[in-house]
Amino acid sequence: MATTSFRNGSLSKGAPKMDTNRSLSLNFAPKPSSFKPKTSAPAPGSGPRRNSTGSAATPGKDDAGVSGRVRVAVRLRPRNAEEMEADADFADCVELQPELKRLKLRRNNWDTDTYEFDEVLTEFASQKRVYEVVAKPVVESVLEGYNGTIMAYGQTGTGKTYTLGRLGEENAADRGIMVRAMEDILAELSPQNEAVSVSVSYLQLYMETVQDLLDPSNDNISIVEDPKTGDVSLPGATTIEIRDQKSFVELLRLGEAHRFAANTKLNTESSRSHAILMLHIKRHVKGRGSTIYSENGTSHLATKTLKAPIVRRSKLVVVDLAGSERIDKSGSEAHTLEEAKSINLSLSALGKCINALAENSAHVPVRDSKLTRLLRDSFGGTARTSLVITIGPSPRHRGETASTISFGQRAMKVENMLKIKEEFDYKGLSRRLDIQLDKLIAEHERQQKSFQDEIERIAQEAQNRIIEAERNYADLLENERMVYQKEYADAIKKLEEQWAVNQERRGKVVHDDSCNKFSSREPTICSASEDATEIKKLLQQETLLRKAAEEEIIDLKNQVAQWKRSEAAGNSEILKLRKMLEDEAQQKARLDEEISILQNRLLQLSFEADKTTRDLDRGTTTLPSSLDSPHHQFIHQQLRDSGDEEKASMANLFEQVGLQKILSLLEAEDADVRIHAVKVVANLAAEEANQEKIVKAGGLTSLLTILRSSNDETILRVAAGAIANLAMNETNQELIMSQGGISLLSLTSMNAEDPQTLRMVAGAIANLCGNDKLQARLSGEGGIKALLGMVRCRHPDVLAQVARGIANFAKCESRAHTQGTKMGKSLLIENGATTWIIQNANNEASPIRRHTELALCHLAKLEVNAKDLINGGALWELVRIARDCSRDDIRTLAHQTLTSSPSFQAEMKRMRIDYS
Ligand code: ADP
Ligand code: MG
Repeated sequence: MATTSFRNGSLSKGAPKMDTNRSLSLNFAPKPSSFKPKTSAPAPGSGPRRNSTGSAATPGKDDAGVSGRVRVAVRLRPRNAEEMEADADFADCVELQPELKRLKLRRNNWDTDTYEFDEVLTEFASQKRVYEVVAKPVVESVLEGYNGTIMAYGQTGTGKTYTLGRLGEENAADRGIMVRAMEDILAELSPQNEAVSVSVSYLQLYMETVQDLLDPSNDNISIVEDPKTGDVSLPGATTIEIRDQKSFVELLRLGEAHRFAANTKLNTESSRSHAILMLHIKRHVKGRGSTIYSENGTSHLATKTLKAPIVRRSKLVVVDLAGSERIDKSGSEAHTLEEAKSINLSLSALGKCINALAENSAHVPVRDSKLTRLLRDSFGGTARTSLVITIGPSPRHRGETASTISFGQRAMKVENMLKIKEEFDYKGLSRRLDIQLDKLIAEHERQQKSFQDEIERIAQEAQNRIIEAERNYADLLENERMVYQKEYADAIKKLEEQWAVNQERRGKVVHDDSCNKFSSREPTICSASEDATEIKKLLQQETLLRKAAEEEIIDLKNQVAQWKRSEAAGNSEILKLRKMLEDEAQQKARLDEEISILQNRLLQLSFEADKTTRDLDRGTTTLPSSLDSPHHQFIHQQLRDSGDEEKASMANLFEQVGLQKILSLLEAEDADVRIHAVKVVANLAAEEANQEKIVKAGGLTSLLTILRSSNDETILRVAAGAIANLAMNETNQELIMSQGGISLLSLTSMNAEDPQTLRMVAGAIANLCGNDKLQARLSGEGGIKALLGMVRCRHPDVLAQVARGIANFAKCESRAHTQGTKMGKSLLIENGATTWIIQNANNEASPIRRHTELALCHLAKLEVNAKDLINGGALWELVRIARDCSRDDIRTLAHQTLTSSPSFQAEMKRMRIDYS
């Protein structure tokens, strides 16, 4: 007997030939190293520049891929209880030769067809083994970045769901492909390896409607195809990221529950729907990426920062197809769309596509159904696809089993072109770069701001310092300039003063060029420059100038010292000269006195000579000697001092010659005689006893005539002296006045230069001033004016007489006022005497001072005079007199005046003078 396989020889009949060149192993690990890197040119002018040298890691969609045929394994379900019983008498319709990866399908009792698969899994194959053979290579491939598909195809009840979706909760060994695949994926997704992420969608395709098994309300999800890449996606589907196995199992259970509920509601069987589990895996490729450089080609930032990470996105699709039994029954007959749908349009479309692909047909009707659209990448695409066909052992379902095997055989012919889908994670990089850029911009702005602030602060500080330095320099310069200027001015002033003094004293011109020299050397005032360097330069210049100035000051100081020395010498010389001058003055005074004595003697001698002459002429030598020696005031003291001898001689003369005779001589032709005669009359008039006789004899008239007619200084002097003596008598005073004496005395006072003449005239007027009756006439005929006029001669004797006259006059006025006869302002004041009185009230010569003090006190007594006196400054003098005057009467007078006069009281109050 031939073996089944041998006898049948059906390897070439109705079934795919065994391809000996083809690897029978399901170990179809691809070779990713054969991937050709694609260099992508940088987008012009946009974003950071990519490394143009290209990197081996640069991913790209290469058209070239690894050829990857769809792998097909067949799994035989063990007989179930029903089959055990119903088929107990029948042998299985299939016989497996797993070691040869062959399946023998009994056609009838004597004929079998032998089929070869990539893997043959007996009814004893464990779930683990099934996973490792069918699914694991795909899972590993997916983890490497390829898309993958694991699909179960077979008649209802043959174990599709058992193989794929078993959760294995009661018995872990029962865990199906879904659970085990996730276990392997999650093993990659360790907590340390955040570079991997997996998310899940779970869908059901029923009657060409995609339903979300994770969200039942979402029951019509559309399929979206990228027109460029052809990538298929379901944007409306719920996607849940999976972190652990437990949550995944929960999710599967939830999906299963929803599937059951949905099918109950629609009154359908789960066997007529396709369950599709989609696992989306995203992983970063370690150590690979594109470094992005800055504009100038230098990498400023960490390479890590700028490396666009490479991301591989892959998708594992696990499809638990609807039961394949209905397809065969419906055949290839035409149906309406709804009929086709209910029959399972998608499953038949899948068969057609696989046929087309297996036969390398030009047209693959991918777009005919949603399933084929969804599985576009799984058959004839870029995914690694592994198909498990499940069959039952029962001969009753032989037709279904054959059909399933046939589907598997055709699928084995489908070639896919495996491609890794890598991409730069530009979005992620961009996000990261955006954040970093924002940070950098913020940091840059912050730094720029603080830099700007710092610059402004420094600039402001510098500006302030410059201003302050400028101000300080300016102040310093100004101060220095002022000091030097003052020192120069002082020095020059001193030198000029000394120069003038010396020039005056020595009477010689002193040339001092240095003065001009210095005066022309004013320090230059420099205005402060804004520039600090300029200021520095100026400061240096100023320092030099200052040094020069200091040297000059030293020079000047030396010169000043020299001048001081010579000044001291000059001063001592002045003192010497003064001493000499004083000596001279004393000597002169002595000489004057001597002259005076000598003149008197001369007068006497001449008188004696006259007498001798007359004696000789008349023969008599005797004069009556009855004249007493009267008290006199204006014949020089020396005359009196000359002794009784002289007095006696005068008396003798008067007696001997006779008064009439002497008076007649006043008009003698001979000038000398006239002079002597006048002198004799004057001497006689000095004696009070002679005065009346002289006047009666017409002596007064003669004397007045002499004043009017004579030009001789001596005669005038002596005549005036005689009149003065006569004027001591009140009767004579009136006679003098009535004979126009006052105007003659005034005339004489105006013409005379000799102090002694003036003294006599002043004395005469002063005597007249003491007469109460003559006040008005004296003033009216110019007597006061004449008196005041004589102060032009500064001789103290003249001034003393003037003062005496004023005092007399004031006393009379005061007296008249007391008696109530005088009401008006003082005639002295009217005649302008106030100033002189006040000026001389404190004259150093005591006769002048005493008379003036007295005059002032009398004037002040009259309230009517007070205003003029106060205006002239009399108050101070009165206060002084009242305090300091050595004469008690005058002091008392002043005191009384000050305490009684309302005007002076008011003035003292006003001036805050504390006088009491
Ligand atoms: P399908 O999904 O193809 O309709 P199921 O997976 O639901 O079939 O299997 C039908 C029945 O057969 C189930 O009760 C299941 O437990 C059982 N079964 C399937 N395959 C096996 C197997 N290999 N070993 C044991 N029991 C199996
Ligand atoms: Mg099922």
